[in-house]
Amino acid sequence: MVNLETPLKNLPHVTPKYAKTLEKLGLLTVRDLLLYFPFRYDDFRNTSPVSDDLIGKTITVEGKITKTKLNRIFKKRMTVVEATLEDANGTELKAVWFNQPFILESLAQGATVRLSGKLTRDGKKFVMSSPAWERAAREETNTGRLVPVYSETAGITSRWIRWQIKPLLPLAQNLPDILLGELREKYNLYDIYTAIVQVHFPDSREKLVRAQKRFAFQEMFLVQLKSLQVKKQWEENNSLAINFDEKLIKNFVDNLPFKLTDAQRKASFEILKDLEKPKPMNRLLEGDVGAGKTVVAAVASLQTISAGHQVAIMAPTEVLARQHYFSFSKLFEKYGINISLLTNSYRELNNFQFSIFPAMPDLAKRDNFQSIFNDKILNDKKNNRKYLLDNLAEGKINLIIGTHAIIQKDVKFKNLALVIIDEQHRFGVAQRAALQSETMSISDGDRKTIPHLLTMTATPIPRSLAIAFFGSLDLSILDEMPKNRKPIITKIVPPGERKIIYEFIRSEVGKGRQVFVILPLVEESLAETMADVKAATVEFERLSKEIFPELKLGLMHGRLKSKEKEDAMEKFKNKEYHILVSTSVVEVGIDVPNATVMIIENAERFGLSQLHQFRGRVGRGEFQSYCFLFSQSDSKRLSAMEKTTDGFEISKIDLGLRGPGQFFGTVQSGLPDITMENMTNVKLIKFAREEAANILAIDPQLKKHPPLADALKKFSEHIHLE
Ligand code: ADP
Ligand code: MG
Repeated sequence: MVNLETPLKNLPHVTPKYAKTLEKLGLLTVRDLLLYFPFRYDDFRNTSPVSDDLIGKTITVEGKITKTKLNRIFKKRMTVVEATLEDANGTELKAVWFNQPFILESLAQGATVRLSGKLTRDGKKFVMSSPAWERAAREETNTGRLVPVYSETAGITSRWIRWQIKPLLPLAQNLPDILLGELREKYNLYDIYTAIVQVHFPDSREKLVRAQKRFAFQEMFLVQLKSLQVKKQWEENNSLAINFDEKLIKNFVDNLPFKLTDAQRKASFEILKDLEKPKPMNRLLEGDVGAGKTVVAAVASLQTISAGHQVAIMAPTEVLARQHYFSFSKLFEKYGINISLLTNSYRELNNFQFSIFPAMPDLAKRDNFQSIFNDKILNDKKNNRKYLLDNLAEGKINLIIGTHAIIQKDVKFKNLALVIIDEQHRFGVAQRAALQSETMSISDGDRKTIPHLLTMTATPIPRSLAIAFFGSLDLSILDEMPKNRKPIITKIVPPGERKIIYEFIRSEVGKGRQVFVILPLVEESLAETMADVKAATVEFERLSKEIFPELKLGLMHGRLKSKEKEDAMEKFKNKEYHILVSTSVVEVGIDVPNATVMIIENAERFGLSQLHQFRGRVGRGEFQSYCFLFSQSDSKRLSAMEKTTDGFEISKIDLGLRGPGQFFGTVQSGLPDITMENMTNVKLIKFAREEAANILAIDPQLKKHPPLADALKKFSEHIHLE
């Protein structure tokens, strides 16, 4: 007897070869196959005899085969099957298939069949090229209906999958339904069996949508259950309660060279309120590039440090860590705070660098101290890491800024009370877990406290989506830009107008400004390849020699040693380069207020959100800034960049264009497409969250809901939410 747990390899038509291929798709059992959903559907419902009005349309034709022919084209090593079919009106239709000679075994002369495909014409003849087909006597599976299309892998076709799944559908009645009857009723959702049947072989569009909605709800329900549980677990920890010292913060804010935006005030307040609780904060600060997250992080840090505790700030790259180090040094220069930088690059012999300075009333003295310090300590390579770690463990360092290096085992704190993670999406769950580890937590008799956690992201996503994805976090959003910003002027530049832009660059450089040139990855890949480095080098050479021989150019790419990267960045910052040519994977997250022009080559290769991130590298100072998108193809998509500089707006457009699956590519949540497509459904997210909260309120461990508990456990194993 076949049941849900029957291995697919035991099914009659599944040869060992097929079984292996199915395994590659992650399909081992009948249950897996039933839950393997189509990613799209061919609409073959229009069944009609052929006629002139239907040319160009996709239709299903039923008729009798009158003739068949097999042609072999030896030169091209190709076979062409040709079949002539006579429809109900006696009109002839010619169907051709390439390289599928076996079709002739089924499509014999005299057979009555259904063909589905696009009707075209060749001279006087009606033609269908590679139509879907099946014998008319068989139930509509591949033709004549909404036909499911599955993601295929070599050796397995959607057609084959359809034949396998169809007879197994009744077994779906044995799948436990993790959505209770009342819940399904409330939201008008199909039961699991109906939903499975309709998602594979929908009777209509409406039923399909309803089935998809059920699965989307179900997934979102699990997501929310998971994140609420994580949230609850997190809140079971203790943290140091840090009192809000209004005078201190007011003084700090009043002495900033600018006025905080309302959004910055509100976010700071929310964070300070969190810090007051003896429960750990877990808050996401979301704000577009340049929205001013750093100063909000500084407010939280200052409060924590002045209460006598330590703060750690973690950035994804050395360049960013270093930049934070300087920003915070400047922001806190009057406060006598000891700040250190700890990064760690395996490419370097001297594989870390740091500096430390004590309370000093002014910068001049600090510099002086640093040089003495550098001579004494930094040059003693054996000892400097130890020196830093000792100071950290003794609590003499108040604020440590760095990369992953900060959460290495040998890094010990005295009383760490706040951890801030910049660009949180670049870090994984492991880092979060580290916060609860012994080295980061403080034991005070029986009571153990873990640090408060503030994560920051520059991906401006709408609140509802942020809740869907980061449901275990509280959210503060900087949805307002500092007032002094001049919107960046953005232009798409067709190939013919390159020269004009180069002249423009010359004039900007003439005024003392600087320029970024960004090159996309040659191939679509996550990491930078040698080809990318080469492309950047070639462009660097071309610009240096042919276009701007009179200017100084710098080159940045991921294969440089981190010291070299830093040197390049440093030189750009210090205006030693007029132009910095860089690959896209290199962090250009550096603040260079004097840079006013951003050139992006082959801009069509980037997503809008990514382009927006790049653009955010200019327009940071007082000068009017420009972003030029060089593009070979005149892409409509890119015009959104010309129209708006609002990151939330851009991400909305980007989401609409690419769909949440692509949009969140970097998040790699592992959520199925159906859910991803429904991620923009605000109501669905809201309801799923409400229901998840309801059920956890009465049954926190889901003891009374075993199928749900089971599903959640499986779900947690392959889903990665922050
Ligand atoms: P991001 O949110 O991208 O991290 P930053 O914190 O680096 O942004 O801030 C970008 C720049 O804007 C910095 O130079 C910072 O000093 C400045 N800035 C921050 N807040 C304000 C404000 N309220 N008014 C004017 N400038 C601000
Ligand atoms: Mg930042």
